[in-house]
Amino acid sequence: MTKRLQTYEAPGVTVTFDPNVCVHSGVCVRGLRAVFDVSRKRWIHADAAPPDEVVAQVARCPSGALQATRTAE
Ligand code: SF4
Repeated sequence: MTKRLQTYEAPGVTVTFDPNVCVHSGVCVRGLRAVFDVSRKRWIHADAAPPDEVVAQVARCPSGALQATRTAE
């Protein structure tokens, strides 16, 4: 069954997560733990780091499951 795309908005950045694409590498969690914490149900707190840091970490996701778009702050 296809899982739903998750969207997390914060001032300056919107992050989406596609659970169907994630390869569970853990790169996001290790790189920016304050933002990416799988112990939470809504596991991405996009406002827990500056938008530029969030965008940079999302760019390291090896599968493309994470995507980030800069928005107005
Ligand atoms: S970095 Fe990407 S592929 Fe790896 S666990 Fe995070 S979302 Fe999944």
